[in-house]
Amino acid sequence: NDSTWDVVIIGAGAAGLMCALTAGYRGCSVLVLDHANKPGKKILMSGGGRCNFTNLNSAPTDFFSQNPHFCISALKRYTPAHFVELIERHGVEYVEKAAGQLFSATSSKAILDVLLTECDWAGVELRLKTSIESVDWCDENACYTLATPKERVVARSLVVATGGLSIPSMGASGFGYELARQFGLEVLPTTAALVPFTFSDLWKDRFSELAGITADVDVECGGVHYREPLLMTHRGLSGPVILKASTHWQAGTPITINWLPDTDASETLKERRMSMPRRRVSTWLKEKLSQRLAGALAEWFELECTFAELSNAHCERIGALLNAMRLTPSGTEGWRTAEVTLGGVNTHEVSSKTLEAKLQPGLYFIGEVLDVTGQLGGHNFQWAWASGVACGNALKK
Ligand code: FAD
Repeated sequence: NDSTWDVVIIGAGAAGLMCALTAGYRGCSVLVLDHANKPGKKILMSGGGRCNFTNLNSAPTDFFSQNPHFCISALKRYTPAHFVELIERHGVEYVEKAAGQLFSATSSKAILDVLLTECDWAGVELRLKTSIESVDWCDENACYTLATPKERVVARSLVVATGGLSIPSMGASGFGYELARQFGLEVLPTTAALVPFTFSDLWKDRFSELAGITADVDVECGGVHYREPLLMTHRGLSGPVILKASTHWQAGTPITINWLPDTDASETLKERRMSMPRRRVSTWLKEKLSQRLAGALAEWFELECTFAELSNAHCERIGALLNAMRLTPSGTEGWRTAEVTLGGVNTHEVSSKTLEAKLQPGLYFIGEVLDVTGQLGGHNFQWAWASGVACGNALKK
């Protein structure tokens, strides 16, 4: 019970669907297999249900990889403007939220529907709830044979678009990495990224009491600073600033939070001691931060006093806590909530033009399964689209 295809793609996610429709329009017979019961589950849950589908300012410097040049070729050939043009043709409305970040104006489903419609028009066949039991390469016939519970599938080209390890409940698996290893490609160590930090004991309790509160802070991690909203949660810290910082975090190392990024706190405290000695320090903090956060900082740093009561040393110490509080997360929320995976299939083993494995003919890797990870803000989908198109254009009929 065999069927034969020019192209079989494993993974009906962002990269797999984009590759499928590109190859389908070029006249390839294309079969997409996915073990999940629905295609594009991560597209649906992305961007808080609105899919931040690209970033107009996306540049190679927005990506992490052991080989930072790898992503340039595909990103150059398929730009954010190309994807915008595609969804505009389908009448999908979108909004720019933060600078350059484009979201669907209605829902993520509108974006997924564009891809599924295009796949349909391009003659792509999609089979869901299909697990792949084995993949074998036949050197003589130059083709791949995939065993599934119902049938054997033969492919001249095999595209691995299985994504990263985050959110296993959405279908994520390490299958793409296993396939890479089976065919002799190196897989670089994987880490959960764009993920909230957890804290234990005292700090867990402190942040938990403030769960839901946000603040505009500067966070430094691994020598890199980000200024974005911070969100306190029941388990620790989240929000864009933390998700971005998490891409630089090494377990056991501290992060530095600047609660008042526009203020030199120790200088201001000293100045206020002269200009308004009888005012309470906590009242000043409440002008700068939300009532509850200001109250909490005043309690943590013992600021329930007047400016006049502060010594010079006290001003320096409190200033350092407000402008550069160092804290070591106990960990991250891990794969359960991470948006992406750092690491993956070593890009040195793959062509940046075609996405084909250099030493294994007809085997391609696209999207997040590769060691290419975008920063928060629509870059990860842009990589999925661009790598999918680059591969789709290279596949043979
Ligand atoms: P995926 O989209 O993950 O697709 C992989 C597919 O492979 C899945 O359908 C899966 O079921 C299938 N698969 C896996 N293993 C197997 C197997 N063994 N057999 C068969 N099929 C298999 N990025 C942005 O740019 N903007 C955002 O707004 C955004 N928000 C996000 C929000 C959340 C909560 C998460 C988790 C991620 C978000 N991302 C966002 C990241 C983005 O979703 C991914 O980078 C992107 O989906 C990667 O595309 P991909 O095609 O490589 O993998």
